[in-house]
Amino acid sequence: MPDPSYTFVVEHLDPELGPWSALEYKTIAKESKQNGCRFILSSLPQSLLESQGIQDLQNVGAEARSDSVETYFASKKEKICLLDPAAQQELDPSDADVFDVFLFGGILGDDPPRDRTSELRKKGFTGRRLGPKQMTTDTAVRVTRMVILEQIPLDKIPYSDYPELRLDEHETTEMPFRYVTDQSGNPIMPEGMIDLIKADADKAFDSLEF
Ligand code: SAH
Repeated sequence: MPDPSYTFVVEHLDPELGPWSALEYKTIAKESKQNGCRFILSSLPQSLLESQGIQDLQNVGAEARSDSVETYFASKKEKICLLDPAAQQELDPSDADVFDVFLFGGILGDDPPRDRTSELRKKGFTGRRLGPKQMTTDTAVRVTRMVILEQIPLDKIPYSDYPELRLDEHETTEMPFRYVTDQSGNPIMPEGMIDLIKADADKAFDSLEF
């Protein structure tokens, strides 16, 4: 059995903590705790570190810090795996014996992807890919946990690609990401995310009006 004491690190790469990221991080914090894993959110600007948003995350089990994983885990760099959409090798259950720390970019998914994970890649971490499609950060952490803790190969995980969400009776929107599905076949998203997407769609619509 793999050692359950894994650490999941998200390096926050944006200057702000947007509401989408906050929901994603909250989900990662809660699920890491449920699975007995450590979750560290790092590279936070000082102003953010003291914010209510980060305190809320600490209250659900996240460790928050301003320094970077390359500094605080400098002594175990070879045990760190960067989840990188551009890596040559896919993550495999056997990687549970190779790595202790799984590192993700704290970046909102963008369409088309701008490869901001490269900011972490150029620091020289060993990379692994989670298949060819872009995932949200909480999905990437969920899939990594399934492969490493539950030993499920990537191609046995049930996915929903680019799901369509119903905003109201007239409108739908397509999410340009891959998600894991729940037992009913619905994409797993952070609690509150659908309401946020609906609110954002309303705002975009309102701004079109004169
Ligand atoms: N648009 C982004 C990707 C953001 S997704 C970019 O500019 O790079 C946020 C994080 O989730 C990534 O930094 C990566 O760590 C992880 N991730 C998402 N999809 C992945 C995939 N298919 N393979 C490996 N890691 C992935």
